Amino acid sequence: MQLVVVQHPLAQCHLAAIRAADTPAHEFRRHINLLARMLFLEATRELPVQEISVRTPLTQTHGAQLARPLVCVPILRAGLGLLDGILPLVPEATIAHVGIKRNEETALPQAYYANLPDNLAAADVFVLDPMLATGGSACEAVRQLKEAGALRITMVCVVSCPEGLAAMESAHPDVAIITAAIDDGLNDKCYIVPGLGDAGDRYFGT
Ligand code: URA
Repeated sequence: MQLVVVQHPLAQCHLAAIRAADTPAHEFRRHINLLARMLFLEATRELPVQEISVRTPLTQTHGAQLARPLVCVPILRAGLGLLDGILPLVPEATIAHVGIKRNEETALPQAYYANLPDNLAAADVFVLDPMLATGGSACEAVRQLKEAGALRITMVCVVSCPEGLAAMESAHPDVAIITAAIDDGLNDKCYIVPGLGDAGDRYFGT
């Protein structure tokens, strides 16, 4: 499995800000947006481009455009918090959605919503979730995307942990993971430690 931990000093500063318990929601949003943008730059580093011709005010020259369509897939709800930082870079991206929650009886991930485009096989697909905890939601989201035809999938998560990474490596070793941190592990409530708490609550201020 390809795993990239983005250790750029600015990324690590934004990470420290979102970890801090006393960072208010509006600052949490600002920092996680900037961090998501940095992670996405790394996640898209190898995307193929096509050469295009560009007319500058002075002359004709060469330029580039993405060779394939790009699909971002936030896992509801917290994954939405990564979109604002990413979309200005790729305004033409399609946004798909998957909703996955934990079944309280079986403890297994349970899909409750999906809205996927029909061009997944042709696209570069980026799954967005700030926290890769047990890996249950991520594995299920990737399973759904593959079932719907996706061939090139990358996972962008702000904080990961050994349990989630192991689950993804076992179920989907072909999916690259881009993260800003590999934390110590999960506590008995499946929160990442040290982590940042509930990413959705902190982003949405709930
Ligand atoms: N989801 C969160 O929002 N935080 C965690 O620590 C784990 C899962």
